[in-house]
Amino acid sequence: MLSAPVRRILAAVTLPAILALSSCTAGPGQAAHARQVAAGQPNPSTPPSTPSTVPSATPSTLPSATAKPAPGSLEWYVSQVPTFPEAPPPQPVPLPPTTDTAPFWHRLPTEQKVAFITIDDGGLARPPAVADFIWRAHIPVTLFLNSPAAEEHADYFRQIQVAGGVVESHTINHNSLAGRSYDYQKQEICGAADKLETLFGKRATLFRPPFGNHDATTLKAAHDCGAKAVFHWSETVHEGKVRYQTPEKVVQPGDVLLMHFRPALMDDLLAALKAIHRAGLTPALLEDYVR
Ligand SMILES: [Zn+2]
Repeated sequence: MLSAPVRRILAAVTLPAILALSSCTAGPGQAAHARQVAAGQPNPSTPPSTPSTVPSATPSTLPSATAKPAPGSLEWYVSQVPTFPEAPPPQPVPLPPTTDTAPFWHRLPTEQKVAFITIDDGGLARPPAVADFIWRAHIPVTLFLNSPAAEEHADYFRQIQVAGGVVESHTINHNSLAGRSYDYQKQEICGAADKLETLFGKRATLFRPPFGNHDATTLKAAHDCGAKAVFHWSETVHEGKVRYQTPEKVVQPGDVLLMHFRPALMDDLLAALKAIHRAGLTPALLEDYVR
């Protein structure tokens, strides 16, 4: 793990290279970026074109090479991200042999030293620096979105998609599904998946029921709408604090951390990354493990 001064030196060395590449295609810029901060994380499965906002700095707005970033600034958040052990090559988990229902998991059944960050909803708040943070720090994220919020703020979520995020389904209306009819649940799940596919060009392969509430009908409807797995979560993150579901208070391999599009999402992302790092794990993309 690099110490803070080393990280600053690295930033000073690579910043001119990034600037030189800022008007070029994404390939070399992405590579330079990866060397600067990614430290072993996989590249986003959706290779981004030049990100919309990064790198966009001009010489007049650049901090000097030795200046400490102001707390709360994007640069500060990036500077706080730990350097992770190299992510192992993903070994997709075997899916249960049943053919008419999706499995329901609180955590991914894997012993690989990875954990997963998921961000839900989308209607409440959308901090503007999130896409840049995800891009700059190569944070693998899965977004479980409600389709009306996704449609209303499609440009925002597309920026996160370009930065490497993957959009999945979280229903249309965010109602509790347990106990509802198959037709109702299928409409909520498929309806959201259809809209998200139109908006983001990819069919959802994962589903998270609102509040985690589900029954057997949910798992059948999710399967019929194209979901390979239905996810609950193993930790929640809110206002920069990780809340564990177990007394050990350590992120375990395969754990799924839940946060929301809320005002403190930048702090939540950072808190999740630090918790994953403390556990000796590396953040990874859920979709690389459920295929
Ligand atoms: Zn939700």
